Amino acid sequence: MPAASMHVPLLDLTAQYTAIQADIRQAIDAVLESQRFVLGSNVSAFETEVARFCRVPHAVGVASGSDALLLALMAIGVSHGDEVITTPFTFFATAAAVVRLGGVPVFVDIDPTTFNLAVEQVKACITPRTKAIIPVHLYGQCADMAPLLALAREHGLTVIEDAAQVIGAEYLLPQAGVNGGDTAGTWLRAGAMGELGCLSFYPSKALGAYGDAGMVLARDPALAERVRALRMHGGLGKYRHDMVGVNSRLDELQAAVLRVKLRYLEDWITARQARAARYDQLFQEARLAGTPDAWDDSCPVMVPVVAPPCTHIFYVYAVRVRHRDRLRAYLSEHGVGTDVYYPLPLHLQPCFAPLGYREGDFPAAEQAAEETLALPMYPELSEAQQVYVVQQVADFYRQQT
Ligand SMILES: *Cc1c(COP(=O)(O)O)cnc(C)c1O
Repeated sequence: MPAASMHVPLLDLTAQYTAIQADIRQAIDAVLESQRFVLGSNVSAFETEVARFCRVPHAVGVASGSDALLLALMAIGVSHGDEVITTPFTFFATAAAVVRLGGVPVFVDIDPTTFNLAVEQVKACITPRTKAIIPVHLYGQCADMAPLLALAREHGLTVIEDAAQVIGAEYLLPQAGVNGGDTAGTWLRAGAMGELGCLSFYPSKALGAYGDAGMVLARDPALAERVRALRMHGGLGKYRHDMVGVNSRLDELQAAVLRVKLRYLEDWITARQARAARYDQLFQEARLAGTPDAWDDSCPVMVPVVAPPCTHIFYVYAVRVRHRDRLRAYLSEHGVGTDVYYPLPLHLQPCFAPLGYREGDFPAAEQAAEETLALPMYPELSEAQQVYVVQQVADFYRQQT
């Protein structure tokens, strides 16, 4: 008997709001009563709280994740002709920030199992004009940072992490050489490993504001001060400008909302991880789950691979599937929301045509763009909803044979 029809959206922010409504309204009311809307006590408190959460000394609130990337690149002085190495399989903002400053994004293909930068391919792309590397931690797990940081150190390059999708994810950084011993290493949080880390609080993100918001994390106090100045037109004092910056501040209302939500973030991440494990299990039980070595029409769903040494926060639960576009249409007809992150890799974006890349340059990224599918994922997703989603996927593939 076919399962009763259900509606399972890709993301359901209402479920979350309903649970925390009273606290949110109280926080917003307090800002309205204070009539302080720009760089008040909520922004500075939120900066301190996020710095503590991400275990990094400094955090600077800015207007969006896109601006966080732009300000980070400005702070390290990226300008005309500077090359910045990054992945083509990311949101547009990562490379756009480089181009806005006159820099040149240099793309490197991805690892086909994690969808993150193929770190072993980075070295061949370093030139005398290379200034920085931007690893993007896609979907919720970190790129392989240990070899990347070693490479950057060796070549004197700055690492700026695009941590927009991974607040709270952790990576075990080995500490070989420290005190001469081989200690197990340290679990660091995403955004705390490079010189600078960029967070986004876009509403759909794992920690989402009620509008646009972002943050730059920094280990070095001088770099943090530069970002602080750059977000206020390049001057910390009134009407004195040492640099030309932009107007890009995190506002008090968003900071007040985010402070309430930050208190729940650990629990929400745990809930996301539990839902990811349940999807994995349901796909196994339905005999749909393939592995990177065995993935074909008889096991058409490759579930996410968590590559040690890291944790995955499952901001996105993305599977690699056979017949992606037809499956997506089928799921939509049956009430299941999905999305594709991202259907067109950046090296093939029309606006980046002057960079001279062609189809075929990054086969792993191009294949991922055709085969990945994000399934419904949010902390409040119920077991019945997940069973329904997997049932629909199973029904689709049964009809293919
Ligand atoms: C969301 C996102 C951004 C940009 O963040 P906004 O806050 O939307 O400007 C940048 N990079 C990645 C990888 C993202 O997912």
